[in-house]
Amino acid sequence: MSPRRAPAPLALDPRRAGPLRVLCLGAHPDDIEIGCGGTILALLAARRNVECHWIVFSGAGGPRAQEAETSAGLFLARARRRQVVVHGFRDGFFPYVGAAIKEAFENVARTVSPDLILTHTRADRHQDHRVVSDLTWNTFRSQLILEYEVPKYDGDLGVPNLFVPLSSAIARRKTSHLHKAFRSQRSKRWFTADTFHGLLRLRGVESGAPEGLAEAFYARKTILSL
Ligand SMILES: [Zn+2]
Repeated sequence: MSPRRAPAPLALDPRRAGPLRVLCLGAHPDDIEIGCGGTILALLAARRNVECHWIVFSGAGGPRAQEAETSAGLFLARARRRQVVVHGFRDGFFPYVGAAIKEAFENVARTVSPDLILTHTRADRHQDHRVVSDLTWNTFRSQLILEYEVPKYDGDLGVPNLFVPLSSAIARRKTSHLHKAFRSQRSKRWFTADTFHGLLRLRGVESGAPEGLAEAFYARKTILSL
């Protein structure tokens, strides 16, 4: 028997009959894609019946709204159904307009019943990211919530506990879609393929991923079915 390179993976229930409903939440255009774009591409490559609800909380009314729509179109091209919503909450001010953002969350909870939620991590140092993370847990109680990470100047990367291995092809597609969709971000020093690839590589090392690449998440509460 050949030695395992990593623990045996948990799997989403393969016996499910209906669509897998995934809710992706991001404070700003590009957060979802940076944090979990590879996982979404891999999920949609592995499963045919996936519904994606993609909600970005800022950008509406500005040039980044179109970028968010373009990007969602690229990342969700294989989704069976998709819904993309871009709100116009003010970038950098989320803690001060929390009630209105909470209303937006309640509206999502009334109209979508997701199986899996991908959201910002609780320990993120960006105040807008934290508001989205906190309201995710505040609003949803019966879903698997995985918190993604976003590399940034603040330096808040931690020790994640759930990893999704990615193929090199998916990793390349992730960085290529990011570059293609978010033209306004290309001038930012950190918005480069090596930033994104470097983090995938590091998480790939930590998880023993077959092709050495992975996205990482914080799974604060998971239920194991035997
Ligand atoms: Zn952000």
